[in-house]
Amino acid sequence: MINIRTKLTGLAILVSGISFFVLSLIAKYEPLGLKFSLGLIVAQIVFGMIMYIYANMYVNRIEKLIAKIELIIKDEYQFETLPLKQDELGRLEEELEKLAQQYTEIIRSEKKEAYKIHTILSGMKEGVVILDQVGRIVLTNTAVEEMFFVRNRKVLVGKHFMYLVRDNHLDQFVAERLSEQKEGSMEFQAWDHIYTVWANTLNDENSSLGLVLVIRDITDIRRLEKMRTEFVANVSHELRTPLTSINGFVETLLDGASEDKELRGRFLNIIQSESLRLKSIIDDLLTLSRIENKPQALKGDAAQKFSFVQNAYEKIRPVIESYAQAKGLEIKVEIPTELPYVLMGEDLLSQVLLNLMENAVKYTLSGQVALSCSAEEEGVVIVVRDTGCGIPQESLSRIFERFYRVDKARSREIGGTGLGLSIVKHIVEDSGGRITVSSELGKGTSFTCYLPCFSSDIVKGNRK
Ligand code: ADP
Repeated sequence: MINIRTKLTGLAILVSGISFFVLSLIAKYEPLGLKFSLGLIVAQIVFGMIMYIYANMYVNRIEKLIAKIELIIKDEYQFETLPLKQDELGRLEEELEKLAQQYTEIIRSEKKEAYKIHTILSGMKEGVVILDQVGRIVLTNTAVEEMFFVRNRKVLVGKHFMYLVRDNHLDQFVAERLSEQKEGSMEFQAWDHIYTVWANTLNDENSSLGLVLVIRDITDIRRLEKMRTEFVANVSHELRTPLTSINGFVETLLDGASEDKELRGRFLNIIQSESLRLKSIIDDLLTLSRIENKPQALKGDAAQKFSFVQNAYEKIRPVIESYAQAKGLEIKVEIPTELPYVLMGEDLLSQVLLNLMENAVKYTLSGQVALSCSAEEEGVVIVVRDTGCGIPQESLSRIFERFYRVDKARSREIGGTGLGLSIVKHIVEDSGGRITVSSELGKGTSFTCYLPCFSSDIVKGNRK
């Protein structure tokens, strides 16, 4: 293939030769004059036209190359398999094709990397904020937007970090990390939540590019820690009281009181009742921990998963009836025979009924304790009603808390641990149900449990 330089030189020689040939013909047959000038003009036009057509051909190929480059930059180029011309422009096109291939591969792999990073950041529960060297936001992930109620992440880009969270200590912390180029962490509070932030420096080979902040909401962890500390303090206190009492009476007996038969008998009775109280606190604590730590205890196999209220009640009937009889209370039980299965193991349902009915008897001096059940749209509804002392309105929201008692001394006196209702609430809610309470001081209290049952639509929804 002839190259462009040779082609253009050859063409110029050829066209000027033809022109001279035409002119010499005209000069040979016609005297010099008007016709010669006309011939000169015609020759120039022919020369010009041929050069224009040729130049146009190359300009078209160059324009095609420019269009190709534009497509490559936009990553929209479709690779061609057409045979390329072998002149300089053809070679340029061939090199460009190779360059486009490399460029497209680089762009695609970078896009893949960026997509990977985006997916990882979006899937993270921790908030991630990338800051530039002066503390302006470069990038945030979805968790940050959810944590700090950002509607449009684009508005954050370019803003100072303070725009996201207004906290002077945090701002100072970020400024120090940026200037000192040191990693570190701190806790801060915003919108009633507690967060912890880790700052990591972002560097390339020899310069700083900014900071990566990883933010975690630790409100629940702190709340659980507080609950645990309070729980341990409560348990210690609850155990210490009967133990101190036992210890005191044992010491008094050892100091000589055992000589007195009457005193000895009285003290031993107190020691026995205090140790029984210790036992019931420990039993309740063990029940709570079993329910909390082993949710499978609530799931179990199919045989343990469903129970009839009647069967569960039969298990506790002797205890409740003798307790009520001792206090002269009437027990009224209405359990329809057509009641569906409750989605809860029989032991757990018995525990719920026992705690609620025992409380009803415990806090009622005279009158009646009633257990009634019905099948409703929400599931099986169990109501335990009494005509007892009632609960003050301000305590109603707290009675399900561990160790909460309306009247501490009285509850202790009648053998309460303060854990019974929290056990009931736990069991009911873990099985997908709920419990409510209504009470009137001096008139009585009514606890209502809504328990998912085998045949209701609600239950089908829960099981899905
Ligand atoms: P306790 O072992 O002290 O009875 P619970 O957790 O079972 O602990 O109950 C918490 C508190 O709720 C009780 O101390 C009592 O003050 C109140 N309470 C529970 N049930 C009744 C009821 N049926 N009538 C009146 N007060 C009740």
